[in-house]
Amino acid sequence: MKTLNDFDFKDKKALIRVDFNVPLDGNYNVTDATRIEAAKPTIIKILEDGGSCILMSHLGRPKGVQKEFSLKHIVDTVEKIIGVEIKFVSNCIGSIAENAARDLNPGEILLLENLRFHEEEESGDKDFAEKLSRLGDIYVNDAFGTAHRAHASTTIIAQFFPNKKCFGKLLAQEIESINKVMKTGEKPVLAVLGGAKVSSKITIIENILDKVDHLIIGGGMTFTFVKAQGGKIGDSICEDDKMDLALDILKQAKEKNVEVHIPVDVIAADAFDNNANTQIVDVFHIPDGWQGLDAGPQSIKNFHDVVMQCKTILWNGPLGVFEMENFANGTIELGNSIAESTKNGAFSLVGGGDSVAAVKQFGFENKVSYVSTGGGAMLESLEGKTLPGIAAILED
Ligand code: AMP
Repeated sequence: MKTLNDFDFKDKKALIRVDFNVPLDGNYNVTDATRIEAAKPTIIKILEDGGSCILMSHLGRPKGVQKEFSLKHIVDTVEKIIGVEIKFVSNCIGSIAENAARDLNPGEILLLENLRFHEEEESGDKDFAEKLSRLGDIYVNDAFGTAHRAHASTTIIAQFFPNKKCFGKLLAQEIESINKVMKTGEKPVLAVLGGAKVSSKITIIENILDKVDHLIIGGGMTFTFVKAQGGKIGDSICEDDKMDLALDILKQAKEKNVEVHIPVDVIAADAFDNNANTQIVDVFHIPDGWQGLDAGPQSIKNFHDVVMQCKTILWNGPLGVFEMENFANGTIELGNSIAESTKNGAFSLVGGGDSVAAVKQFGFENKVSYVSTGGGAMLESLEGKTLPGIAAILED
């Protein structure tokens, strides 16, 4: 696996695919710069080596050239975070980009206009990728968030840099973290899968059963498993057509010696509303007119015990409707348990979809070992898929 350490960037122009797809407010101010901060270590390392950086990214989903999706809106923020002046060109290919890249001196940074102003980016067009490739000497992919897409700048371009391509620090870190859970993790290994639906997590569950010793299933998924086993779930969310699948998962887990833990009690509400009446009930006996919206106190205790015995922990998906204050406790307590276990030496990875939002909202970001930056890319990795952007760097 080639990383920045395999190259000397002195006097070289690094063409870096970053993920600067950041949220902007109505006045085009960046409202969350996490992704820019995440790319900083790669950029700084190349500049310190004596190289220059040509940054390329997409922003949003423009249809052709649309000013509101211009990356010029983020120039000031990037400048502030990296601490170096940012030169900007209004097209990512063509003579204007090629001239700006040619004139770039060591220590300087050039940001290219939104890649998706050209539809060839998303279609993975080879000619477009070749035009981009003219801009740099070494291709660096540091955009985990788009590594699951075979786009021109994330995948197709790599073929124009035989032996001159590598992962940036962020992408390397993401790959290492996934490998720590899926391949090299110290046992016992635990996966906590929450969230709304079995259907969106099924491929992950099936893939992960071969890698883990314990599986906690929580959130809305719980009720499909409970009903499938003959429980009464009241008005709780359930995918009736996935009940056979749920039973099959439990059977597979048994065969593979994976201990499955599901909530034994839940906070049931008489409406899907933060101010609904609530009661703690046995998960197998939820009264009609009531729905389980969070893990109950005994479940939280049980999960804590499991989390504390595990040395490698993957967390994907909340244990309840955490967006509502009164149903966030299970998710918060799980975060506390994972933080404590991490403090005791466990490796913990949080990633995919909503879990990152929950972790940030409740301030667990610095209390777990790693928070993934890529929602879809992380989910596909956990499903066992080889991401095209990663494969393209690994090929010669
Ligand atoms: P996902 O994107 O699959 O990780 O699902 C996250 C969503 O699941 C969040 O928006 C939660 O509100 C929702 N969720 C978690 N637990 C429940 C539950 N018991 N009932 C309904 N929705 C839930």
